[in-house]
Amino acid sequence: MYTRFGLKAGLQFSAEIPDEARPAVENLVREANTVLFRKGVPKDADEREVGRIAGWQAEGNRLLLDLESGTYTRVHDALFRFRKQIAPTLGKFRLGLRVIEVLDYTVEMKGEFPEGLRIPALPFIKESSLAGDTLRMRLDLTAADLENKVPDRIVRLVEEKIQAAGYGGKAEHWDLVFESGKKPRTFEGDPTEEMIRRGWVRHALSRGQWIHGPQSTQLFRAFEKIVMKEIIEPLGFTEMIFPKLVPWEVWKKSGHAKGVYPEIYYVCTPKTRDPAYWEDIGDYFKVTGEVWVDEIRKRIDGPIGGLCYAQCPSFWPFIQGETLANDCLPARIFDRSGTSHRYESGGIHGIERVDEFHRIEILWLGTPEQTVEIADRLHEAYVRVFEDILELEWRCARVTPWFMAQEGMIETEDSCGCGCGSRIGTTDYEAYLPYSESWLEFQNVSINGDKYPSGFNVKIQSGAECWSGCSGIGLERWTAAFLAQKGLDCENWPECVAEIIGEPKELFRFL
Ligand code: ATP
Ligand code: ZN
Ligand code: MG
Repeated sequence: MYTRFGLKAGLQFSAEIPDEARPAVENLVREANTVLFRKGVPKDADEREVGRIAGWQAEGNRLLLDLESGTYTRVHDALFRFRKQIAPTLGKFRLGLRVIEVLDYTVEMKGEFPEGLRIPALPFIKESSLAGDTLRMRLDLTAADLENKVPDRIVRLVEEKIQAAGYGGKAEHWDLVFESGKKPRTFEGDPTEEMIRRGWVRHALSRGQWIHGPQSTQLFRAFEKIVMKEIIEPLGFTEMIFPKLVPWEVWKKSGHAKGVYPEIYYVCTPKTRDPAYWEDIGDYFKVTGEVWVDEIRKRIDGPIGGLCYAQCPSFWPFIQGETLANDCLPARIFDRSGTSHRYESGGIHGIERVDEFHRIEILWLGTPEQTVEIADRLHEAYVRVFEDILELEWRCARVTPWFMAQEGMIETEDSCGCGCGSRIGTTDYEAYLPYSESWLEFQNVSINGDKYPSGFNVKIQSGAECWSGCSGIGLERWTAAFLAQKGLDCENWPECVAEIIGEPKELFRFL
């Protein structure tokens, strides 16, 4: 991609720029173009790539600048470097710099644009046109936006979209790591339908939400016990309780703010808790039997964030901004304190793809080596559980979500030189569902590199890079996978599992 920037800016001074100041400005512009703007630019860089002031004019109390650049010392960087010099220079003429006006900002990108590329629709982009190999954008920016590097981010965003379009809609790469092979199957049906038939679960009143009866709950708790005994305890994880209402502040740092919006359950707060303010809303219900949603919408603030989507982001503020002592690493924790919520839209199915689900989230952090080692030990423990205890037909695969590839996380060079960098990514664990002849992801293990520690500014005493990993064990998914293969009759369950689960308890009888 070949990118050019153009900026017309006006520097407003406290009084008219006098004619005798012109030579000083002229000198400064020459000096900027030949010295100042070249600082930090590689020696062999093409001259046209470097920012320069192509023209200037003094008009009343305004100094009008016409800047252009390629990739080096982009026009806005050039502008701010120049500001630093021009302020004291014109200060000698008793002129103070008051305001920087951005009169026009253009970006031209030349390269290959895949079909179907969507140019970002942002208020900053006043006009855009894509014709052949050239994308032209006219930006509407303030000086503060320039200082905030908004133009660089817009260019980066377009580049990301080009890359994402290159993935052709595929969500992720997929490489098989392990396959268990066939296991004896004792059931062919859809486990949810059979659970409903036997009264183990019932639809709740919200979408993608279930009320789990005693029998289903027994299964969840049994799997939890197995996870505790076989994985969490032997590997030394300690329980914590993470919040389940997630403010934007957390998702900004965890990176979820980049794209979680279509699946969030949004959270709002009342504009006031004054009962008088809400009285008519309650009265409306008393009179009509309906909740006055249209009116409620006008009386709430936010959304302030959303319900728990991924479990681990909410942990990080606990150690945000801290330097961790070497002797508390690798830190190993887990959370099972509440539900996760995702708006799955038309995708909801059975108990396995729901809008409200239960998950044990395992989280660890330390040096890259420590982080990778725990992921490996976790994987070994999972293999033992799925092979020897649950006797599942399962497989696991390395998947690379495109956003990670896009963030350049996959090729991350690791400072330790042990090859950890190539381990960043996610391993999905999938179980075979005989009834639908398909595979269901029932959990994963992720090595997240420095994504969270850098987002939440967490460091290690030794100065080593800080990495983290997490693993989400979906209890609905474990249950669906287990029942889909083994059925609902406990005599067909592996003996030790049947023992932990116990005889399904019939609590209700309906007439
Ligand atoms: P899928 O591709 O099936 O939608 P995902 O990639 O969105 O899964 P992750 O974001 O990796 O899932 O979530 C981690 C774990 O959380 C999953 O392995 C699964 O156990 C559980 N999970 C995610 N979404 C749901 C859901 N809608 N219903 C039940 N469990 C879920
Ligand atoms: Zn996680
Ligand atoms: Mg999903």
